[in-house]
Amino acid sequence: MITSHFINLAKSTIHSLSPYQPGKPIEEIQREFGVEHIIKLGSNENPLGASAHIPAAIAKVTTTTAIYPNGSSYYLLHKLAEYLQVSYEQVMLGSGSDEILSLLIQAFTMPGQEVMVSQYGFAMYSIFAKAHGAQVITVPAQEWGCDLMAMLDAITPNTKLIFIANPNNPTGTWISHDALQQFLHDIPRHVLVVIDEAYYEYMQAEKLYPNSLALQKHHDNLVITRTFSKIYGLASLRVGYAIAHPEIVNILNRIRLPFNVNAAASAAAMAALDDQTHVAKSYELNQAGRTQLLTAFKQLQLDVIGNAGNFITVKIGTPAMSIYQNLLKSGIIVRSLLPYNMNEYLRITIGLPDQNQSVIDNLAQLLKA
Ligand SMILES: *Cc1c(COP(=O)(O)O)cnc(C)c1O
Repeated sequence: MITSHFINLAKSTIHSLSPYQPGKPIEEIQREFGVEHIIKLGSNENPLGASAHIPAAIAKVTTTTAIYPNGSSYYLLHKLAEYLQVSYEQVMLGSGSDEILSLLIQAFTMPGQEVMVSQYGFAMYSIFAKAHGAQVITVPAQEWGCDLMAMLDAITPNTKLIFIANPNNPTGTWISHDALQQFLHDIPRHVLVVIDEAYYEYMQAEKLYPNSLALQKHHDNLVITRTFSKIYGLASLRVGYAIAHPEIVNILNRIRLPFNVNAAASAAAMAALDDQTHVAKSYELNQAGRTQLLTAFKQLQLDVIGNAGNFITVKIGTPAMSIYQNLLKSGIIVRSLLPYNMNEYLRITIGLPDQNQSVIDNLAQLLKA
């Protein structure tokens, strides 16, 4: 790239940022390594794909692409509210839950105010916070997860938002209902607590997993975000949502882009909500796949951090990066955790049984070499 002076024209808060590194796309690996068959387990996508009803739902909107979508996604908003058994005024839709995370920071922080995250917390929180000039307070992790006590201690009058992914990506660690309840009880009311439940549907059945909607009834400074990108299999269409106090929703709506959820995304999300059988099937597949991978990792004497959600973060040791590269050469995409300074770890999305087996076989081979 030719260096120019434009970076000096950009806001200083952007100077030190680098773009979020998503998992490698399939086409890139096909091009780079000349492998045809790719197993993509780098981005926590649903290996079954989306509900079979999605193409028909999208087809219906293809004849009206000249017309702007319904600006407030009226039908999806109401359908989702009914599904969640909350008022539609408590639901905020976004172009992925990522958009909502960014809107929260834009709406609630002035330059220099504090956004608190956990070490190894999901990377987007601090990227958005820094981009908007907020000060990121990173609280050291406790056994790779959130240290809620330390977070409480780190709160200042300047703290505006706390972001906690539950379970956390990339570590797979999670906090319990009781721990979250106590935390919300102890937190000053001027702080908004954002619980990012991108993997909610994979956790719902866990006895100790928080019923965050119930907690929200007593703690209106709790913001919950969820997404259609993970178990619903709609990552390419970008739909996510927040459940929050109506006043918070109203504030976010003031600054979002008009038509932030496009017509195809809206139609697909509605069809996806209607197909809970597909969600249940995806959940079962994930449970079985987790057992398959954990059993194999044990045999390979590989340690695992957390394994909540639809991914497993496994300790490979010092050869992790070369094993990552070698897996790519064989057409297997997993996630490198270099951006998190977790150089000895790889994050592997739980795939279909034969995909999991390929990962296991290739890992075993590479570790022996
Ligand atoms: C995948 C993921 C998201 C982003 O989801 P989108 O709705 O696709 O923007 C947010 N938070 C966490 C922790 C995730 O893993």
